[in-house]
Amino acid sequence: MHRVFINTDPPRYITISILGGGQLALMLARAASQLGISVRVLASSSVCPAKHAVAECCVGDWADPETLRAFAQDADVITLENEFVDANLLADLEQRGHTVLPSSKTMRLVQDKLVQKQTLSQAGIPVVEFQAIASTQELTDAARAVGYPFVLKRRTLGYDGTGNCTVNAEADLDAAVKKLGGLTSGLYVEKWCPFVMELAVMVTRSSTGETAIYPVVESRQENHVCSSVLAPAAISSELTKLAKQMALRAVNEVDGVGTFGVEFFLLKDGTLVVNEMAPRVHNSGHYTLEACDCSQFENHIRAILGLPLGNTEMRSPAAMVNLLANTTGSGAPCGIGEALAIPRARVHLYGKLRASPGRKMGHVTALGDSAEEALHTATSAAHGIHFKE
Ligand code: ATP
Ligand code: MG
Repeated sequence: MHRVFINTDPPRYITISILGGGQLALMLARAASQLGISVRVLASSSVCPAKHAVAECCVGDWADPETLRAFAQDADVITLENEFVDANLLADLEQRGHTVLPSSKTMRLVQDKLVQKQTLSQAGIPVVEFQAIASTQELTDAARAVGYPFVLKRRTLGYDGTGNCTVNAEADLDAAVKKLGGLTSGLYVEKWCPFVMELAVMVTRSSTGETAIYPVVESRQENHVCSSVLAPAAISSELTKLAKQMALRAVNEVDGVGTFGVEFFLLKDGTLVVNEMAPRVHNSGHYTLEACDCSQFENHIRAILGLPLGNTEMRSPAAMVNLLANTTGSGAPCGIGEALAIPRARVHLYGKLRASPGRKMGHVTALGDSAEEALHTATSAAHGIHFKE
């Protein structure tokens, strides 16, 4: 299904092809559809969350060059909902004349978190102290240099803390390496950061160079997974300004086009360091759907098409609470009626047909007179929702 895209002269048909079919693709597709733009996704499963919101759901492996080439065929723009597609394969698509945004160049600098940290640090953007490692001896030396505890991280393919392991003592090194798939999977060492708060900023940068920066939010994690977001963060205006400047610098540094999430650690002395950057719409920006004039999803679509960016200002303080599964099961949601009965709580379910511990099944956003009040509302609504075994 193609629809006329109204903003071109003469009018023509626009299709955006998204690599990935999860909840981020779902919310991107809804934003595109509002603008009359057709979306196709390449997903690993036919029961992916984006399925019901897109014109076409192709099932295939984005690590396979032939599958990618076939999927790219009719796309005006190819974009991504994750950082897992190999930058070399994206470069191959570009060489064949396709527009990929964010570009392969950007993805090459961001998808390997060690390269990302080297890139940001070389640009003078403060990051947590890190060390590359290639052997057991280098790991032991690096661990001694940064001190215990420290965080051992996978360079690629990590999400929701799956690529991280906190190591408390030298005796735990072997187990940590094994848990993350072995040294050959590509690991690096990061000093433990004694932060007092975690912050995040969404930045949208258009292919025209126009930029839009969202408010600075506080993100709270449990077991390395985001549990809630408060918007705006309760920090000074100076710190807000600094976080926004650093986030924009980070996105400019990798020549990013689209919406990016930049995560920060705030230290006790007021210093900010970048934790990491995600080259895509981000969980800490879901609140923008309800709280901002133009959501992170719509601005991503606008950015990759070179359209004017929308206003990022907040209409109201807000909070978001993730709905994480506790157990393995069918994923059927329970307790929705009670949650929907809570005024000002907005329930989002991703329609996942399989639950596993810690899996993101949905989220609840609430608006309020303050972010804390909104968090109370969202938490009350989220509290009653669970996913069937
Ligand atoms: P996500 O996909 O949720 O963004 P991720 O898997 O990419 O997460 P990180 O952002 O690196 O992983 O880490 C997840 C969380 O683990 C952080 O938000 C923070 O709470 C904690 N963490 C990560 N690195 C460190 C560190 N060096 N010191 C202390 N805590 C850390
Ligand atoms: Mg993170």
